[in-house]
Amino acid sequence: MDATGDGLFDVAVVGLGPAGRALASRCAATGLSVLAIDPQPDAPWRQTLSLWGDQLPPWLAEDACGVDVLAHSVPGPALYSPDRAVLDRDYCVFDNTRLRDALPLGPGVSIEQSTVDDSRLPGLLARAHRVVDCRGAGGAGNHGPLQTAYGIVVDAAGAAPALGGESALFMDWRTDHDDDDEAGPSFLYAIPLGADRVLLEETCLAGLPAPDPAVLAARLRSRLLRRGVAGSAIDAPLAVERVRIPLLPRPGASRGRASSDRASTDPRIEAFGTAGGHGHAATGYSVAAMLAAVPAAVHALGSGFPIPAPRSPASTALHRVGLRVLLRADSRTLRQLFNAFGLIDGRRQQWFLGGTSPSYQVARAMWDMWVTMPVRGKAGMVAAVLRKDPRHPGAGAAV
Ligand SMILES: Cc1cc2nc3c(=O)[nH]c(=O)nc-3n(C[C@H](O)[C@H](O)[C@H](O)COP(=O)(O)OP(=O)(O)OC[C@H]3O[C@@H](n4cnc5c(N)ncnc54)[C@H](O)[C@@H]3O)c2cc1C
Repeated sequence: MDATGDGLFDVAVVGLGPAGRALASRCAATGLSVLAIDPQPDAPWRQTLSLWGDQLPPWLAEDACGVDVLAHSVPGPALYSPDRAVLDRDYCVFDNTRLRDALPLGPGVSIEQSTVDDSRLPGLLARAHRVVDCRGAGGAGNHGPLQTAYGIVVDAAGAAPALGGESALFMDWRTDHDDDDEAGPSFLYAIPLGADRVLLEETCLAGLPAPDPAVLAARLRSRLLRRGVAGSAIDAPLAVERVRIPLLPRPGASRGRASSDRASTDPRIEAFGTAGGHGHAATGYSVAAMLAAVPAAVHALGSGFPIPAPRSPASTALHRVGLRVLLRADSRTLRQLFNAFGLIDGRRQQWFLGGTSPSYQVARAMWDMWVTMPVRGKAGMVAAVLRKDPRHPGAGAAV
């Protein structure tokens, strides 16, 4: 069972979300013996997982893994803030079932159905040479900033008025909803999930606290009605999606070492996926960066090296400056910021959105947004960075 013959697994992977499953599957494919632990190893992933087409790693391409993991792709999604910009990239949605098929847990993986809390993590070193915490960024226990959204799935014909002829709406910051931004700024995200279904989602990019989902639902409803989507389609959707994405890893979970526990500072315990900081603090995306990092992590585990960090500390710091602005800026400043995002060069946009971009690229993209903003927007940005407390939903727009 184990590659070394000493009765230990090569790797214990704790958590079988997208990160843990990808890591366990690829480790096993290279001949490592894997112990994989999750309370619900077979639970389907219900979230709509998307990425840019150019971010699909070569090892997950159909000709490499034998499975077409994408449910749908659309070219050139639009951004309105309020000016229109088209992002010149394909935007893709995973077929989660096929993604799991492409990440099989075969005979090299021993699956154990249980929960491992922080205090039990070091004990796994008695069973495996390396332990990788893939337990995610935490559920209700993570009290940090959140991205939240309320979405409905509607048939394509019903959703057409919301899209207004666009292939998809990556971010639509126009304010054609009934309430006046009291609950904080949010945007419409409208993405086809296939030829016949569209996800229409009202999204708050970052909140601390996050706005009440009921507020986002009401805002979405009023926005869609104003655009001509039928009330019956809104009130009886094909599905509902509630998004809650912690934008920062759990305190103490970064790289898997809880500072309060001496044993868990053992370098043989590491973290991967959102537990390991693969989430982008200013966008909430993690899956593309995590998938891109899988081969290097597998190589590290197989050769005795530490798992590489998701990105440089300087890039992470810049993402956190972005998050600071998102949490504190008033609505007008945020719209001006995303208007500037739509105007900068497409390569710079990619640099900012990419979870693994080096710091000089992130800095260059942020600089270009800054210089593109009007003076009033720049003043709003400075005020946001200097403001002590995050914007509070219901307290009106911060100034
Ligand atoms: C509705 C929605 C839409 C999203 N859309 C996107 C998107 O388009 N693109 C994108 O990049 N991201 C998106 N995200 C975020 C994305 O889902 C997460 O970032 C991603 O799932 C993180 O993967 P992970 O494997 O690191 O952690 P998780 O998905 O959180 O998986 C953690 C796993 O660990 C297990 N676990 C937890 N605690 C324990 C424990 N104590 N012991 C053992 N096992 C444990 C859990 O059962 C789970 O299987 C979305 C999230 C939501 C909710």
